[in-house]
Amino acid sequence: MNPLDHEEFRRQGHMIIDFIANYYRDIEKYPVRSQVEPGYLHKRIPENAPYNPEPIETILQDVQNHIVPGLTHWLSPYHFAYYPANASIAASLGEILCTGFNVDGFNWMASPAATELENIVMDWLGKMLELPESFLFSGNGGGVIQGTTGDAVLCTVIAARDQLLNRIGRENIVKLVVYGSDQTHCSLHKAAKIAGIHPNNVRSVKTTKSKAFALSPDSLRAAIISDKEAGLIPLYLCATVGTTSSGAVDPVGPLCDVAEDYGIWVHIDAAYAGSACICPEFRHFIDGVECANSFSFNPHKWLLTNLDCCCLWVKDPSALVNAFSTDSEYLKNTATDSKQVVDYKDWQVPLTRRFRAIKLWLVLRSYGVVNLRNYLRRHVEMAKHFEGLIAMDKRFEVVVPRNFSLVCFRISPSARVNGCSADDEESTANELNRKLLKSLNDSGLVCMTHAIVGGIYMIRFSIGQPLTDYRHIEMAWKVVQEYTDAMLGTYLK
Ligand code: PLP
Repeated sequence: MNPLDHEEFRRQGHMIIDFIANYYRDIEKYPVRSQVEPGYLHKRIPENAPYNPEPIETILQDVQNHIVPGLTHWLSPYHFAYYPANASIAASLGEILCTGFNVDGFNWMASPAATELENIVMDWLGKMLELPESFLFSGNGGGVIQGTTGDAVLCTVIAARDQLLNRIGRENIVKLVVYGSDQTHCSLHKAAKIAGIHPNNVRSVKTTKSKAFALSPDSLRAAIISDKEAGLIPLYLCATVGTTSSGAVDPVGPLCDVAEDYGIWVHIDAAYAGSACICPEFRHFIDGVECANSFSFNPHKWLLTNLDCCCLWVKDPSALVNAFSTDSEYLKNTATDSKQVVDYKDWQVPLTRRFRAIKLWLVLRSYGVVNLRNYLRRHVEMAKHFEGLIAMDKRFEVVVPRNFSLVCFRISPSARVNGCSADDEESTANELNRKLLKSLNDSGLVCMTHAIVGGIYMIRFSIGQPLTDYRHIEMAWKVVQEYTDAMLGTYLK
């Protein structure tokens, strides 16, 4: 057996590429959300691994027959759930290069190209976002590719924690407080837990519909003052640009001003919306980033980069390095000793790291800034188009102002249709929208998800998959109307 026989790799590799190409060709014919029941696969797959080898042809047949039915087709043009998970030819092929070389670039010496290309693409991308020089390697900051935003938040919470505790004494860990809003992604709670922050010291500052669910600097200040009066020590703020539920934008600049008064580390989580900020017209959403300590976003959401890829920049890499560096003898080398290189193992939790930079490099080079910008803009235009469709049917309303390509809508509590009415009660409206969403997803024609903000149950229509075009938006809206007709009676203009 030669597991890396190059001719066999070529033969089987072509088969897999053909398989995926056909999958993309046929993707619209699959139900978007998988329709299988829990445990379906155990009934179809043998209980033990095969003793004898099986040919790729048989395995691929099983992928088609048994795995594909259990997939929710994230790349379907009718997938409007969560936030998107983008893929592209460039990034897929970049992944193949990454996995083909299979280098483990934990430090510079372990594969200089992996480290240096990561330095370069992080500076490229930082410049595309117009991050201040202080976040770039050229300005003594720097960027690192993490797997997910969860990793980025965890690493920065730990860096901030150690930086502060090294000054005030480790025994003070019980007094540290981290801040977000009630819209902040749960990554912050998880990170705080892992970092040893007392569970009572994680603040989810309340937001309101009148402020479009953005974190108010005044509310933040009030929370900090109250904590300080109680003898606690403010540590870290996670501000969000494009919240998970509704795409709300926290006012970065004013929040940084408050944080500065109390010496708090500010992290900007722009997991989804950060991509849009490479367009000059959306860049203002991160104005004030120059006063933050760290910034992250996920090209794997909306920048044509296959999972996984989260870009994190910090102004002070030494905060990460002090928190994460280790000193094993077997990793010692002259390049590290020279202090001329970045050893990314000291910027993350694990030692091992994939050569993700090559994937991002292929994306940036293959599409160029111009096509990436136009790609994002087109989705935002489609979102506006979808809002226009909603506006023409008085049974529906957009619940929160749209900032990017996420539209949050619902059957309005005031809908009165052919004598059937959605009761004015919000709770009835919530129930109605819950039912509508379930029937939409059960149909397999489209896939959407929900959020509850300020007690309002709303359907999230998240545009951003690479195959989605205007006709899919229009078809999806028709499906929404038809299922609503069935629930409420036909809408007569
Ligand atoms: N932050 C925000 C604002 C998000 O919307 C999401 C996911 O949608 C995350 C964080 C989590 O990202 P990840 O899965 O990369 O940890």
